[in-house]
Amino acid sequence: MNAVKCEKRIYENKHNHEREMSKKTLLKTVTAIVGGTLAFGVLRGSRNKPALLKDRITAIINARIFNGDHVIDDTTVVIKGSYIQAVGGEVPSGAIVIDGRGATLMPGLIDSHVHTDLDGLRTALLFGVTTELEMNGRWTPRMRKKIAERRDIADLRSPGMGLTPPGGHPTQYMSSSNNLLIRLFFRYPTVSTPGEAVKFVDKQIAQGADYIKIFIEDGTCIGFPGLTVLNDETLNAAVNEAHRNGKMAIAHVTTAEGGRRAISAGVNGLAHLFFDRQPNHKFVDATASSGAFVIPTLVTISSAVGNDASALAADKRVSSRLSQKWLDSLSRSMNVYPKGKLEDAYAGVMALHKAGVDILAGCDVSEPIPSLGGLAHGASLHQEL
Ligand SMILES: [Zn+2]
Repeated sequence: MNAVKCEKRIYENKHNHEREMSKKTLLKTVTAIVGGTLAFGVLRGSRNKPALLKDRITAIINARIFNGDHVIDDTTVVIKGSYIQAVGGEVPSGAIVIDGRGATLMPGLIDSHVHTDLDGLRTALLFGVTTELEMNGRWTPRMRKKIAERRDIADLRSPGMGLTPPGGHPTQYMSSSNNLLIRLFFRYPTVSTPGEAVKFVDKQIAQGADYIKIFIEDGTCIGFPGLTVLNDETLNAAVNEAHRNGKMAIAHVTTAEGGRRAISAGVNGLAHLFFDRQPNHKFVDATASSGAFVIPTLVTISSAVGNDASALAADKRVSSRLSQKWLDSLSRSMNVYPKGKLEDAYAGVMALHKAGVDILAGCDVSEPIPSLGGLAHGASLHQEL
């Protein structure tokens, strides 16, 4: 699950490494909408003589425009450089005109739970995902800066490394790895005390973390029962230290007990909806009154209980944008908790939504390896939605 991916991401990481939009995000998002839409092949336009990017004016016309809340009457968007200059109105002379007839123009999508690399960010953009939220991985400030400047890949936010105790998730993947080097030499950083948790959180923030990720995982639903779980004192210390620094704390949970503990510790969000049982009223009410959001990752739960995503892989809009290894990966499933019921997760999402809990879309995709089947960057977010 999350864990598997998190860990895979960490040790195989070749590139080791909110919805509030900064100016920079907006820049990239707008650009990506244009690029991404073109990539979908639904817009055709004439290109005039290229100007400097910051002066270049692009007009998308005849598009159905969804502004994030509803479809609006205007059908034209004018972009200067990397900023939206106008919605509606005349097309400025000299503009590069893109005819969006038959297509919908919308804000870039954000995948709220991934484990990514440059290849993942590139693939995500092909599906209109302009930002991916990493949920465990070491991305250096230098890499972050480079990614923010690039226009051919999605943008990234990251917590740095997730917080876990010795012997806690996801360390089991290193200690059971087929790769001897990883088994012997890779040491996932862990914390044993509240004091260590504070230091760990401070370190992630010093290295550029946008939020803090905390693992609460006993292994039941991911095929490794009996894992060491973070105690309440350490969990609370981590959450408080994140908040003291103005950062959100996001918890990985897969069991109801983990969900209960996370919410009572005051986390800002859950990186999964648990799936060992259907969420009860008590959990739904507690989550709603805490103000926490939930990233259900239904596609991951679906894979965990044994469903593959071969129907998604067979969709031409998907197969035309993914490499064979990702298509093969979609056609597999993790099947680590076959007794789980996807219907319980659906019911849980509906109950949370009705109670006013913000539901964020995220898929928890990582790498195209057999144990992480059923997911692909970009494509799986559409399935999640
Ligand atoms: Zn994850």
